[in-house]
This record gives sequence, C-alpha cells and structure tokens, in this order.
Amino acid sequence: MQIGGKAHNPRSGEWLGSLNPATEEVWAMIPRASVEDAEVAAAAAHEALRGAWAKLTPTQRGALMFRLADLLERDAELLAQLDARDNGKPISELRKQYAYLPQHWRYFGGLVDKLEAQVIPVDRNGVFNFTRHEPVGVVLAITPWNSPLVIASWKVAPALAAGCTTIVKPSEHASISTLHFAKLVAEAGFPAGVVNVVTGYGHEVGEALVAHAKVAKVTFTGGEAGGRAVSTLAAKHLKPTVMELGGKSPVIVFDDADLDRAVPTVAVGIFSSSGQSCVAGSRLLLQAGIYDEFLRRLIDRARAIVVGDPLSAETAMGPITTRAQFEMIQSHLFDAHEQGAICAFKGERSSNFPSGGLFLPPHIFTGVTPQMRVWREEVFGPVLAVMRFETEAEAVAIANDSPFGLAAGLWTRDLDRALRLHKELQAGTVWINSYRGVSSMTPLGGFKRSGFGRENGQEAVREFLQTKSVWMEYQ
Ligand code: NDP
Repeated sequence: MQIGGKAHNPRSGEWLGSLNPATEEVWAMIPRASVEDAEVAAAAAHEALRGAWAKLTPTQRGALMFRLADLLERDAELLAQLDARDNGKPISELRKQYAYLPQHWRYFGGLVDKLEAQVIPVDRNGVFNFTRHEPVGVVLAITPWNSPLVIASWKVAPALAAGCTTIVKPSEHASISTLHFAKLVAEAGFPAGVVNVVTGYGHEVGEALVAHAKVAKVTFTGGEAGGRAVSTLAAKHLKPTVMELGGKSPVIVFDDADLDRAVPTVAVGIFSSSGQSCVAGSRLLLQAGIYDEFLRRLIDRARAIVVGDPLSAETAMGPITTRAQFEMIQSHLFDAHEQGAICAFKGERSSNFPSGGLFLPPHIFTGVTPQMRVWREEVFGPVLAVMRFETEAEAVAIANDSPFGLAAGLWTRDLDRALRLHKELQAGTVWINSYRGVSSMTPLGGFKRSGFGRENGQEAVREFLQTKSVWMEYQ
C-alpha cells in the first residue's frame, strides 16, 4: 500500500489473493489492511492537509496534477493490462478508458486556481463581507471493482482540486491498478500523505476509516447494501457522504428513431463491461411500430458480440468480475424464467477462450411485466429486459416507475418530443440519440435511490469545499 508517501505493508502481515475472473486463479496478492493501518493512513492524510499540501499555491498543486496526468499517459497500456487481468474488462474498452484518464486529471488540475469566492454587499454600513471556499478535510474514497481507477479518479481529482487530502479504499476484487496509481502519485512528487491507498475488506479497514475522526467526508460508489452500510455509519458520526449506487436505466426508442444509430448504441449501452456498469441501459422500451424490426436487428448485433479472453483485442465482453456477482446474475436469470419472461436471445461464449472462468453471454428477455424482478432490480450483468409501449405518456410512466434514477436514454427525431421528455424523465443524466457518454466536464449522479451528490464537472469540486463567511467591520 502507499501511506504517507511510503510503501506500507499491512501491520497484521496478512495478504489476500486477487483472482483473475477469466481463469478464477489467484494472479496477485494484495495487503489486508486492518484498523491499525487505517489509523496510520488517517494520520498521514490529516498531517498533509494542514501541512505540505496546504503550503503549496493552487498553481503548484495544479502542476502536480498535470505531472500525474503525464505519468498516467505513459503507463496507460500497463494499467489497461492490469485491469484486464484483475477485473476482466476487455482490453479494447480499457484502452479507451485509460486514453481519456489523463485528460480527466488535466481538467481538475486546471480548476485548482479558479475557485473564486464572493464579496457580498450585506445590508449594513461599515461591513466588509466575503466568502472563502475551504477544503472539507480528509476525504475517504471507497471504490468498486468495475472501473477501479477511473472511479477513484472521479473522486480523488476533484477532492485534490478542492485542497483536500485523500485515502482510497479500492474493492478487494480489483485493487491492483489503484496500487500502481499510488506509485505514480509518489513519482509525480506529491507531498507525502496527500493520496494514500489502503487495500482490504470494506467491513474491516473500510468501516474503520469511515468511522475515523480524522476523515471528514466519504465518497462511495458501489451497491445499495454497501452504500447503506457506509452512509449509516457515516451518519452516526454526522459525516457527509457522496453516494453513487447504480441504477436500472430505461432506454426509450420511438418509431421515428434512427435505428442505424440506435441499435448498436443500445447494444453497447447494456453489454459493454458485461453489463457491470452503473449506467447500463438495462430496460429497453420499444414503441410498437418498430418493436419487431428493432428486436431482430438488436439480436443480430448481440449475436456478433465476442465473449471471451479479455486480453484479446477482438473481445467485446469479458467475464463477470466476482463469483458472488456471477451467482447473483444466475439467480436473476432463473427468476426471469420462473416469472414467465421469454428469453428471446442467449449468446454464446467465444471459442477464443473455451473453458473456465466466470463467463456469461448476453441475454435479452421479452414478455416482461413491470412486476418482474428482471425489470425492477439492478442485475449488474449482460441482461436486457424489453417492453413494448404505444404512447409517449405510457413510455414516461413506465420509465419513471422505478426506485432508481441514474440515467435514461431517449431515441427520437422529433425535436419537440426530445425537449418535452428530457424534463419528464427522473434521472441524473439523460442521453438523447446517444448513450453512455461520460465526460470529466459534466456532472454525473443519481436521482432517487441511485444516490446523492455529483461526480465530475465543477459540481464535483464543490462536494469537497465548505464555505466560510468572513465579516469585517470598519468605521
Ligand atoms: P459493494 O458495494 O459491496 O462494494 C463497493 C466498495 O465498498 C468496495 O470497496 C467494498 O469493499 C466497500 N464496502 C462494502 N461494504 C462496506 C462497508 N460496510 N464499509 C466500508 N466499505 C464497504 O459492491 P459489491 O462488490 O458487493 O457489489 C454488490 C452490488 O453492487 C453489485 O451486485 C452491483 O449491483 C453493485 N455495484 C454497483 C457499482 C456501481 O458502479 N454503482 C459498482 C459495483 C457494484 P470490499 O468489496 O473490498 O469489501
């Protein structure tokens, strides 16, 4: 691990095996941090907060983030190779993610010296009032296994831009790229303790950090159960949180949609990362006029997906990252059949990786009703549920009838309809004639049970700032 700018072995001496999900074999060992390591990390981050990090000017802090961006660019291929083994995401997808990641760090590095505050003309004579934006303190970033370093960067870059120091606790299933990132932070020349990486179990070191008095705010991405545990513990200590908890995002395709663009985008929206994506477009609503044609073309598209070796450039879908998730998806498939959904398509695993591993091909279910589990719950796997609708009002009602509200897709050539409907959809992101576009520059986050707080864009930096109001009286 990296704590206080130094390599740090777990005080307990215990290590955990990290499995390659394509083979289910241990391919790396990670430290199993304990409460004692949490204590050291919190102390290091707290010392840097008021010390070396605070002493740098905003321009100097931004320059370090630019240097880190250059190192991420240098090591992009290595990071892609690490994640492909650690979480099974296809190398083609990882190369795109890591090609963009340096830009993310440059965006937030560029914001560091632009956090202007206000002079407020309060309604009294002889008073000069102004505000300051100050860092909230030590930020704990708890990250999941699906896009470990991208999601860690969504949290750490804006926190550093705000002047905070950080501790990252990656998922025990995919910690390796974040551990390499910690080395790059040291190489870039950040002061000791500004970014600390602690690995191990959420219920052990994770909880110790959430509860730690020196941790001021927690930003979490993961499932509802983990999110509830973390936010409940944080609330007990009156600690604010940012929660990104996934979704069950609807994609609505109207009769007038450009199917040549919609079909491949819908397929990528659900099947990339084997559906293990918070914004996966897992509920497809097709208007009656294009229902049959769309479904036929979508199945053709899904049939062409290569499911196999994540390290092969032609693979579009790798394995499921964890056995628990694999079994969870199987239970969803079982229930979908039990509850009467029709499996309109089930893909096959490619011959480029013939046996072993946690592979699950794409599934498309029709005959789905709003009560079915496959329609209501997040599967977090390559499983698409399809429903037919007739009218615009019906589509909106079905789309919004969900406890989640992370994202929604809308396909239409009718500009009036697009302008009407984007306001109606209860989701933190609405994609019109597109899907899954994500940028460092625009906020991402959930409505309803998909979470609260925002990542990316200038709003992400505000999550890690607190405002001080300063009054001066003069005569
Ligand atoms: P979790 O939500 O359990 O894990 C996310 C992160 O939180 C991990 O680093 C985990 O640590 C940590 N964590 C879990 N519980 C606690 C706790 N009590 N205190 C502190 N940290 C904690 O995800 P799972 O891997 O269990 O996946 C479960 C479900 O979450 C999936 O089925 C999927 O639906 C959803 N999910 C959503 C994601 C998203 O992008 N929104 C990403 C991943 C999963 P560790 O695992 O190392 O113990």
